[in-house]
Amino acid sequence: MRSDLEIARDIQLRPIGEIASAYGIPDDALEPYGRYMAKVDHRLGTKAEGPARGKYVMVTAITPTPAGEGKTVHTVGLSLALNKIGKKAACAIRQPSMGPVFGIKGGAAGGGFSQVVPMEDFNLHLTGDFHAAAAANNLLSAAIDASILLDNPLEIDPFTVTWRRVVDCNDRVLRQIVTGLGGKANGVPMETGFDITSASEVMAILGMSDDLADVRRRLGRIVIGQNRKGEPVTADDLECAGAMAAILRRAIDPTIMQTTEGTLAFVHTGPFANIAHGNSSIVADRVAAHHVDYLVTEAGFGADMGAEKFFDIKCRASGMRPDAVLLVATIRALKMHSGQFAMVGGKLPPELSDENVEAVRLGCSNLEAQVKNVRKFGVPVVVAINRFPTDTAAEIALVQERALAAGARAAEISEVHGKGGAGGEAIARAIVAAAESGEADFSPLYPDDMLLADKVKRLAHELYGAETVEIAPAAAKTFATLEAQGYGHLPVCVAKTQYSLSHDASLKGAPRGFAFPVREARLAAGAGFVVVYAGTVMTMPGLGRTPAYKQVDIDENGEVIGLF
Ligand code: ADP
Ligand code: MG
Repeated sequence: MRSDLEIARDIQLRPIGEIASAYGIPDDALEPYGRYMAKVDHRLGTKAEGPARGKYVMVTAITPTPAGEGKTVHTVGLSLALNKIGKKAACAIRQPSMGPVFGIKGGAAGGGFSQVVPMEDFNLHLTGDFHAAAAANNLLSAAIDASILLDNPLEIDPFTVTWRRVVDCNDRVLRQIVTGLGGKANGVPMETGFDITSASEVMAILGMSDDLADVRRRLGRIVIGQNRKGEPVTADDLECAGAMAAILRRAIDPTIMQTTEGTLAFVHTGPFANIAHGNSSIVADRVAAHHVDYLVTEAGFGADMGAEKFFDIKCRASGMRPDAVLLVATIRALKMHSGQFAMVGGKLPPELSDENVEAVRLGCSNLEAQVKNVRKFGVPVVVAINRFPTDTAAEIALVQERALAAGARAAEISEVHGKGGAGGEAIARAIVAAAESGEADFSPLYPDDMLLADKVKRLAHELYGAETVEIAPAAAKTFATLEAQGYGHLPVCVAKTQYSLSHDASLKGAPRGFAFPVREARLAAGAGFVVVYAGTVMTMPGLGRTPAYKQVDIDENGEVIGLF
């Protein structure tokens, strides 16, 4: 089998302006970055223009394994398949962090014959937005430290500063550091640390904003810590948000690229899917939806995480109304959800290739729960069975039956990985039928004016399957403070494991009867949500013993090899 990079390399690339003009995006709205990438003016689809003409389709998945179940492959692949059946379609995906690219996960351009190309540009730097986000983030860090050293006019309490520096690399030694060592000339010593760039609130702000002016306003609202009176100190108080917005003035424009079949792909922002909302940007979706019949956009992790945040955080902010959802499932992950198998050395166990209808039957509890989770938002669901060669007819038939029984509108086999758009006609037709049925009646799961604790409880009971919710005193106190300060209307962004519907990665399938812990809450006033921690969340990954970077090199022509 050819590698993703080899497949991508064989694609006859067309100049990006040609691809854009086929979608009615004019040349003067483009800022080319080389021949195959361009920034597109984000104002091509403003909120003021009202609803876009394109149908809005979101791709999510069952609770994934660490191998990934094919959401990105299907976000790209479904858009290819829709084009094949005569609908003008584009996809919108996130830009990957170079941490995971060189860590375990590898690139995130899709795979096989459903990819965004050139995949080496996609995975490495793209058009520089991550660097811009890091530069803006770190300018604010420097501003905080300078202000504290130089007479501390805002009376910032150094012990309350929660704003951290970021870098786009899996670099665990930076998780906890002390800055300002070496005497007064070097600043006030502070215990702090680095997060990966995708965990920066600046990245979430780029994803949530309507336009550059909104970026500026949201940056100004960032709370970096407290003053001695316990009041929030913002980036505007530090007079830093204007410069941050200047750094980001190009980063708010989405990048466009092409797919393996010469259709249009939007790539923009890469926020984490636990401490942030884990979706591609609102502006990319909006610009895209104004130029297509169908826009396919991806939400990170499983339906309880990325899809919930798509609905409750992203659509609540953007006002866009989804028409249909594609929920991706693999037989191998459903077998893992039986609870009968364990990962071996960080990899899926080889027995998953053997027919095991009983394991699929048990694991389908997860598929059912995730289908029902999406249905709670009022949007029709099509299940895509992302086919692998080892899947058997009996296993596939069982998944189809269970998906339909759980409320999916259709459940179809998909082979977009191996065949591109031609392998996705069944899912494309089912999505068109769902989107054009008028069945969609989207509403978020909770109203703005509910108490923060009640918002979390609703998610825990309705989506995760929790019996009770245990809110730690520290979290209850933060909720009360935030409500008193006027932040109670914000949606909650739950940070929990992506590997279980619950807070505990070891609980597979559809666990019930557990107590859902709420340990801590933190305001992301710029992004516009309250992050609620159900456990400790890693915001700076590390490298393992067999990191992906060891395979990557350049060949005699200067071409990248070994990326996957
Ligand atoms: P997600 O977005 O859900 O994390 P991806 O779409 O990135 O998952 O897919 C994860 C990995 O699995 C990618 O390397 C992709 O190429 C591979 N993959 C997905 N579907 C298939 C398939 N049907 N056959 C082989 N490999 C696949
Ligand atoms: Mg993905």
